[in-house]
Amino acid sequence: MKISIVVPCYNEAEVITETNQRLNSVLSAHFTQYEILYINDGSQDNTKAKILELKDHFPQIKLIDLSRNFGHQPAVSAGIKFAQGDYIIIIDADLQDPPELIPDMVSMAQSMSANVVYAVRESRQGDTWFKKITAKYFYRIVNALSETKLPLDTGDFRLIDRKVADVFNQIEEKQKYIRGLISWIGFYQVPIKYHREERFAGSSHYPLSKMIQFAMRGMLYFSKKPLTLATNIGLILVLISVLLLIAQFVKWIFFPATFVLGWLSIYGAIVFFGGIQLLTIGILGAYIGSIFDEIKNRPEYIVNQVI
Ligand code: UDP
Ligand code: MG
Repeated sequence: MKISIVVPCYNEAEVITETNQRLNSVLSAHFTQYEILYINDGSQDNTKAKILELKDHFPQIKLIDLSRNFGHQPAVSAGIKFAQGDYIIIIDADLQDPPELIPDMVSMAQSMSANVVYAVRESRQGDTWFKKITAKYFYRIVNALSETKLPLDTGDFRLIDRKVADVFNQIEEKQKYIRGLISWIGFYQVPIKYHREERFAGSSHYPLSKMIQFAMRGMLYFSKKPLTLATNIGLILVLISVLLLIAQFVKWIFFPATFVLGWLSIYGAIVFFGGIQLLTIGILGAYIGSIFDEIKNRPEYIVNQVI
């Protein structure tokens, strides 16, 4: 049995040595065969040099060097593609996910014959209150909108087996929302609880703008409900406006004396429907944007070197 660890790294020079130390001491104590894949996601600091340096002392290390910064999700995809193990564990480079949980995940997968063991955060230290609140409500909103239910309070820290990895690698979607996709793949998935720790060093690479982008992807890629919502509102409004028109017509026929040619109501209606149309077009635009991205059929990431 071989274990693969997938570690996406973006500007993690400050933490990578410590992470490697912790990973290796846990792995070598429990497993005879393992590999650690560091995916250098276009780091601007000397993360790559550090990984290569570590590689001299740890033959289990593989470096997947991407040609530029593609983002966390593509980096993880690249890792899963190159991983050769029977069990693959995705873990952050900053030690927020404790490597000590890995043996428990593997023994759980074996004893319960689970295909996926996903880590559920019981608590999270070090994250700002803003991050905690947005993360908490984000998953609940995505679930309310989505046809595929995602487990709550999970990140990408999880174990997947070969079967799931093979399916994952075949999925051609370019902008993957990994935690959602793996949950969508199905088979037998079990949770394991853990306490999310503080970042060992450095700072988060997920500023608000990236978080919003990520949240949008989660919603757009897993739900068509916003589209139906717009259609439903549109339908109801059209019905109401037709009724109003009939009412005005009746008034004009039977009470012509009191009938005032109300330009104000027309003006109001134009603005109102203009707003609704913009809203609907906005939602369509978001989906069309996604279709556009998919149809370009560009690779999700480009590998520079595999060492
Ligand atoms: N990461 C990456 N590419 C990016 C941003 C982040 O590979 O463009 C990696 C990063 O090195 C870390 C993991 O993804 O291992 C999670 O990122 P981070 O800790 O910055 O996010 P947070 O934990 O704050 O959500
Ligand atoms: Mg982190």
